[in-house]
Amino acid sequence: MSLPPRVLRFELLKTASELTRLGLNKGTAGNVSARFEEGLLITPSGVPAAKLSPASMVEIDERGRFHGECAPSSEWRFHRDIYAARSDIGAVVHTHAPFCTTLACQRRGISAFHYMIAVAGGKDIRCSEYATFGSQELSDAAVAALEGRRACLLANHGMIATGPNLEAALKLAQEVEELAEQYWRVLQIGEPIVIPDDEMDRVLEKFRGYGQPKKA
Ligand code: 13P
Ligand code: ZN
Repeated sequence: MSLPPRVLRFELLKTASELTRLGLNKGTAGNVSARFEEGLLITPSGVPAAKLSPASMVEIDERGRFHGECAPSSEWRFHRDIYAARSDIGAVVHTHAPFCTTLACQRRGISAFHYMIAVAGGKDIRCSEYATFGSQELSDAAVAALEGRRACLLANHGMIATGPNLEAALKLAQEVEELAEQYWRVLQIGEPIVIPDDEMDRVLEKFRGYGQPKKA
């Protein structure tokens, strides 16, 4: 069920503010969107979270036309293309979270050094190819790095976390940054021992039933 636009605009504001509060974004870094009707709603370009209002969110319709008081995030292309490529995704969070960005500056993805890597949907979290921010090339690289995953790093840039809704995408962004920090710590003392593929298959299977049973 989709949220009314007024509520969704407020949810975008809350998510962007929370990313700043958690230290996952600073200043005008990062952006947030949610699927809306046949298009999406996205944060404006170059506005820090403290200066956002529900009215500053920009609608991008199915024909790529912008509607709103502000110019949309410069990364609107990868937000649009992720929704087009992935029917399972309803919200996209992009951050320059410090540990994800540190690894991304070495163009280094995160291996199965810890079983929790499975939260991102697979046996690793890839780092995309490098491309200029805001470009179609970056969008293509992001969609490729996200194949079969819910999150990826962006080379020399940051990370993307997705989810069925904003709450899930925000939670995953936090979890991925936590994994990036742990991975960074491990790398200080040497290369981690990576969990073998067949064990990660078991972990991924267990993740499907993890937590409280779903209410009917
Ligand atoms: P915007 O302010 O245009 O959303 O850009 C921030 C950013 O992180 C670009 O990659
Ligand atoms: Zn960015």
